Amino acid sequence: MTAIRLYNTRTRAKEDFAPSDPGNVRMYVCGPTVYDRAHLGNARPVLVFDTLFRLLRHVYGEEHVTYVRNFTDVDDKINATALARKEAGAEGTLEELIHQRTQETIGWYHADMGALGALTPTHEPRATAYIGAMIAMIEDLIARGHAYAVEGHVLFKVRSYPDYGKLSGRSVDDMIAGARVEVAPYKDDPMDFVLWKPSDAGLPGWDSPWGRGRPGWHIECSAMSYELLGPSFDIHGGGIDLQFPHHENEIAQSCCAHPDGGFARVWMHNEMLLVEGKKMSKSLGN
Ligand SMILES: [Zn+2]
Repeated sequence: MTAIRLYNTRTRAKEDFAPSDPGNVRMYVCGPTVYDRAHLGNARPVLVFDTLFRLLRHVYGEEHVTYVRNFTDVDDKINATALARKEAGAEGTLEELIHQRTQETIGWYHADMGALGALTPTHEPRATAYIGAMIAMIEDLIARGHAYAVEGHVLFKVRSYPDYGKLSGRSVDDMIAGARVEVAPYKDDPMDFVLWKPSDAGLPGWDSPWGRGRPGWHIECSAMSYELLGPSFDIHGGGIDLQFPHHENEIAQSCCAHPDGGFARVWMHNEMLLVEGKKMSKSLGN
């Protein structure tokens, strides 16, 4: 069998790849937030992990590789786009406009990535279809002492997880000194991050034990990967810009909710597409 060697961000070394079950090689890659058209930089992880998906299928057999890439279809940027359309006179409720926006963006994404020749992943879960699983995971984290509810929010207690920061090689105190954390009056500690947040009447929301609200972004990937791949799987991928805080937070949530699982064994990150030395991004408009 062809030997595959992968650079594992977690160990910072090239390793021989050995799936835990060669009959079902499992890979999760963080997918797009569907609020606008993708740009070429968004296509980079698609191509990088498509290449790996094809290699795994070649080595282990097409029926023996499961590739999950999610759509984040609940997000403040999506809400803002839908709200702007409503204010411009578009017909329909805000929820209908949000649904229209995510549907058309997913359509563009499929067309564009298909045009690049990328295969469709085995599963493309939408976050809004997994709200129940996210609520269950948050309840579990509270029960295990890793999260707390306050003022309609639920926050993950970062200092309850001693391995926090290991993937990206940061200490919690360095992160605070770097001020890459949002200070909010309801947090016990500035490092704590949101698992659930309240929605007012003008925003999409779901009933939960903490009132009507919506999930934080990080819990989406932890819940969807658990539902589709289980508590431990082979490869987790995404852009290097997601390493901190998104992937650190995914690890903290998943390892604390399923301490025997171990979550992903190999972590892989693609670099960013640069334009004149700067990351291509919608916010820079480059
Ligand atoms: Zn993710």
